[in-house]
Amino acid sequence: MLFLALETSCDETSAAVFRDDLTILSNVVASQTDLHAHFGGVVPEIAARAHLRNILPMIEEALKQANVTLSDINCIAVHNTPGLVGALLIGVTAAKSLSLALNLPLISVNHVSSHIFACRVAAARDIFPCVGLVVSGGHTSLFHCKSALEFELIGGTRDDAAGEAFDKVAAILGLGFPGGPALEKEAALGNPQAHAFPRSFIHDDSLDFSFSGLKTAVLYALHGVGNAKGPFPGPGARRADLAASFQTAVVDVLVSKCDKALRQTGLKRLAVGGGVTANKTLRAGLEKMCAKRGYELFIPPMNLCTDNAAMACLAVEKYKLGRFADLDLDAEPNSIGV
Ligand code: ATP
Ligand code: MG
Ligand code: FE
Repeated sequence: MLFLALETSCDETSAAVFRDDLTILSNVVASQTDLHAHFGGVVPEIAARAHLRNILPMIEEALKQANVTLSDINCIAVHNTPGLVGALLIGVTAAKSLSLALNLPLISVNHVSSHIFACRVAAARDIFPCVGLVVSGGHTSLFHCKSALEFELIGGTRDDAAGEAFDKVAAILGLGFPGGPALEKEAALGNPQAHAFPRSFIHDDSLDFSFSGLKTAVLYALHGVGNAKGPFPGPGARRADLAASFQTAVVDVLVSKCDKALRQTGLKRLAVGGGVTANKTLRAGLEKMCAKRGYELFIPPMNLCTDNAAMACLAVEKYKLGRFADLDLDAEPNSIGV
């Protein structure tokens, strides 16, 4: 049985074909990075228009690479939440049109749940129950994942997402867009101990995150505040040291909160997804913590970490339970359901 899935939640237009045994036959992604770079961030209106241009070519390419045609497809899946509403709407409308025209069942999938399910696909074996961490441009969330379709939110960011903090600090340091990869490159040249940046709530039992104070601390360290001394050296601070110290502060908090979540839930498996998972310091930090404590760590390969349609194969689980969507399915900017 074959599924065609669509992803348009932010600035990647993606289509994928997969089987009900979770074998991915194709997963094509059109990135819009170049369109948004000039503005230093994703512009929702531009993103929606680019999805509209890209969605049909992506569907055609996904079918071609899978060596199938539309008539071979048995079910349509789409990420309908969360994300930019105008962007999501393109995928949702395309999916509903295909469902209606081809008389195929339609399944809606939560994009954040999919980021965790990408670990299940990559591992090719069961990963549930587990603690799930999603670290991306829009999310820093910890879940108690009881099964593929039962996620309980146990922690989240109170302000910026981790990826957003990477992007904003990269902008502060003049490193351009997208900020995450650029900041990681710069950090490799610096001393992570140069600045003692804040690690919010690190000694707290809460599983919540906050990154906005850290971002401000980098800004003060760069420009100086008053007669800045101590953690705020002011002008003259080396950019690479600021980047390295920022990155290590984010990683310390993420690793510590994952450890705390695992201890609080008593679970032994950690599944991590989202674009920030590309960060090598984060991967190394999580690997070290999990090895020390005897936890099993699941991190998908890069192409399944960043936004893509193949991770929507969570739809297979919903199909088995007969959880279909109707043609009145809507794009939901705030996360709802699984
Ligand atoms: P969401 O999934 O929350 O809707 P999104 O679509 O922006 O948001 P992704 O595409 O999963 O998320 O991830 C993009 C984010 O990952 C950006 O904020 C980017 O800066 C960050 N990122 C990518 N590579 C790295 C890296 N090497 N180090 C740190 N952050 C990175
Ligand atoms: Mg993206
Ligand atoms: Fe995402």
